[in-house]
Amino acid sequence: MKQYLSLFLVILLTSCGSKKISNEIELNPNNPEGLKGSVVSTNLNMGQSSGAGFTSPVEVGELMSFLASDELQGRDSGSEGIAKAASFIEGILQESGVKPYFVSYRDTLSNFDKVAYNVVGVLEGGDANLKNEYIVLGAHYDHIGIISPEGGDEIANGANDNASGTSMLLELARYFGETRSNKRSIVFAFFSAEEKGLLGSRHLAKKLKGEGLDLYAMLNYEMVGVPMVDKDYLLYLTGYELSNLAEITNKYAGGKIAGFLPKAKEFNLFRRSDNYPFHQEFNVPSQTYSTFDFTNFDHYHKVGDETDKMDYGHMAEIINKMIPVVEGIANAPEKEIKYNEK
Ligand SMILES: [Zn+2]
Repeated sequence: MKQYLSLFLVILLTSCGSKKISNEIELNPNNPEGLKGSVVSTNLNMGQSSGAGFTSPVEVGELMSFLASDELQGRDSGSEGIAKAASFIEGILQESGVKPYFVSYRDTLSNFDKVAYNVVGVLEGGDANLKNEYIVLGAHYDHIGIISPEGGDEIANGANDNASGTSMLLELARYFGETRSNKRSIVFAFFSAEEKGLLGSRHLAKKLKGEGLDLYAMLNYEMVGVPMVDKDYLLYLTGYELSNLAEITNKYAGGKIAGFLPKAKEFNLFRRSDNYPFHQEFNVPSQTYSTFDFTNFDHYHKVGDETDKMDYGHMAEIINKMIPVVEGIANAPEKEIKYNEK
């Protein structure tokens, strides 16, 4: 998420230390069963989805370990480090059969002074009519790069912000690339320069609007690496009260996974991430899913936002639960997600 949050983060901190159980896998100490436990709990509620248990903490960990590595130098827009992240994302899209949306995967920003690009792929829908309607799934893959050193570390790795959302989107791309189960077309948009003021998403939203894209909804993923504390849902939706997206999400998830976080409304997070330019351009439901609840993560925009604080069991669970949600939304005969009447 962009700038604004740091002031509020000092309040109400909870320890979110993770126990390292192997070289790559870190799991929440509250879930000592680890990998097995999370896969089992994932399967319990999947019901209708062919996506049950699609990803695992191990696979999520592999993505995260690269995207948030020191080698990428905090993925500052226009840097060499973020270019490595872009190549990595492109490689996965290509392997998964997700096609470039434009002539290549790279969508160069026209509103930033350095060379920066979104990475944008598309999977055409399988239904002759519905394929003309699009769902954009988004996550920003940039972060803030090198910052003032703390304890000898100056790399703001951005594991939670937003290697986590990027990994989630990559797994969704891999799932739909493999299954080709979407009737509507799905655009996978990895945004650059979010941290510079939502520049990548603003650029792409304008461009797609200019092309006359028939956008049904934009679903964005931001800071999903750490579970929320004492909630009866797994993710909150920004702009919760604006639409019926939470209801639709929970319907396809087969249980309550999306909820309302009062703090998200208080701090107007709806306007603070890459969903917002799509809302502005298209005025169709455009919202962000997140698990950053203002109490569960102490390292926002700090050098400590690293993979050792992430909970891959949690991430695999929400990815597996999001699969039938996206599938349900992509395949519903009628557009069900709607902004509420004002
Ligand atoms: Zn962010």
